[in-house]
Amino acid sequence: MGSCNDNCGCQSDENIKKESCGGSCGCSSRGEQKKRDEALHLDSNTTSITSTTGKKFHIVVFGCQMNYSDSARIKSVLQNCGWEFVSRIDDAEVVIFDTCSVRQKSEDKVTGKLKELHPEQKVWITGCMVQHNLRNAKISANAKGKKIKGLMTSGNFVGTVETKDPAIMWWTNEEIKKWLKNNTINPDAIVYVNHAFNPMFFNLQKNNANVELLFRIDDTGFLPLMMRSLGYDVSYDVEVTNEYSSIIPQGTNQLMKNNTKTAFVPISTGCSQFCAFCIVPYARGIEKHLPVEQIVAEAKHHIENGVEEITLLGQIVNKHPQFVEICQKILDLPGNLRWLRYTSPYPTHYSDELLALHEKEERMCPHIHMPLQSWSTKILKKMFRWYNKEQFIDFVDKIRALSRPISITTDIIVGFTDETEEDFQESLELANYARFDMVYIGKYSVRPGTYAARKYEDNVNREDKHDRWDRLNELLKTISSQNNQQEHGTTRTIMVNRIEPDWIGGYSDNMKNVIIKLDKVAVTEQTQSRITNNAPKGKKWGLTSMYVGDRLIKLGDFVDVRIIGSEHFKLFATLDQ
Ligand code: SF4
Repeated sequence: MGSCNDNCGCQSDENIKKESCGGSCGCSSRGEQKKRDEALHLDSNTTSITSTTGKKFHIVVFGCQMNYSDSARIKSVLQNCGWEFVSRIDDAEVVIFDTCSVRQKSEDKVTGKLKELHPEQKVWITGCMVQHNLRNAKISANAKGKKIKGLMTSGNFVGTVETKDPAIMWWTNEEIKKWLKNNTINPDAIVYVNHAFNPMFFNLQKNNANVELLFRIDDTGFLPLMMRSLGYDVSYDVEVTNEYSSIIPQGTNQLMKNNTKTAFVPISTGCSQFCAFCIVPYARGIEKHLPVEQIVAEAKHHIENGVEEITLLGQIVNKHPQFVEICQKILDLPGNLRWLRYTSPYPTHYSDELLALHEKEERMCPHIHMPLQSWSTKILKKMFRWYNKEQFIDFVDKIRALSRPISITTDIIVGFTDETEEDFQESLELANYARFDMVYIGKYSVRPGTYAARKYEDNVNREDKHDRWDRLNELLKTISSQNNQQEHGTTRTIMVNRIEPDWIGGYSDNMKNVIIKLDKVAVTEQTQSRITNNAPKGKKWGLTSMYVGDRLIKLGDFVDVRIIGSEHFKLFATLDQ
């Protein structure tokens, strides 16, 4: 999510395992299920399923911040079931892949990663890849003129599944409550999610017998029931729910940043924009806005647990009708919230009220990531992006008129269908006008399942795409260098996100990368710990803290720095004493 179609930087590395299957997925050990069921105790008077043995699990997160937030919810549910999260993939009995579909290569990473696991490690797959394939299955079934046997409208997904029986995601909270109350849950009455995702599940299982479960992220609250159906010994003392968004992640988003100071809070799920190039609406379903009280409660929980930076998430985050109210209510919460961010907004949903909040409230970070994709009105129309050049100029002008400097970053796609040199020149003009601090440039590639894949020809050749990428990038380097020079001599607070033997890295409130080079003599002691999801590229180990003189600096710390130099995309600083 976040920057919509252009934010798929996978950060993860690791994963899990278990024993034989209990029968939901059609594997050979179905006979074991009865015994396992008998080992469980379903309390007829409460919503508790109790038992004793917890498994060790690990989650591999692919993709964007929304997936990290989702994974934190999965982690929370499994921990409530008595399972233990392990930070090393090798130690896990069950490995969960929270997948991304933004690009084909995101899905290829999953199949690649599967090969690295030990055959005894069980694998569960969730995330966009699962939902996108469900949708694709529907499309291909339609294309072949097959009869669609069921209409699924629960969760935030509207689509069809090819199954004769009700699938687990059809259950409502009321039904679950009734079944639990009457002790009438009958595992045989459940058509497991795996079957609903046929044929993807069976195709995956052909080569990877350890793939045990596919589930929609919206059904995370049902995991205890699925686990039980798979034959796991489940201890669950929290109400089973199909209201995904009401699950508050325990602790903070350590899956992503290895620190306890930052958290991602979804305020909406799905997207109804259906930009021509984008798979998100198919993978994540139609847009749903979460209730204000629930969002604020989640933020409160994080702040009470020490979080100091919150990022509100939504595919079009500022389209939430109460967006400004949500920001204000979170800023009013007691505690030590320092930074409030949000991603990704849409130009035509900006209100003057929101810009005024940026101006008056220091803790609203002075950074706006505004995915634009193009500046040619012709291309924007073709992309189904419903704004034009003039509207964006107006937006930039309003930001630049604020008394507080705001850094603007964006996403641009080069080489979209029918983009001519003249259209591209308009994007160059845009970069010059808006003085972006960063542009995430994507060379257009067809994403199967999207409108553009079905209706448009990918008619800009590879060389032109490369060439446009290079020219935009060169311009961007120049603009970024000029912008960064204006920061020299200023003091900033940064959040530490990288510790190396002779430098510390972090990012500022205006989302610039800051490097503090250290004299080795100053480093008196280092703590090396295994970092999994956020290890420096190519490494499995990283530093989590170090002493600089007598000052202890840890990942996640906020430290004050003085900017002493810069280059494009980077500021250099010294520690403020
Ligand atoms: S459809 Fe458009 S607005 Fe929605 S997530 Fe995709 S790129 Fe963003």
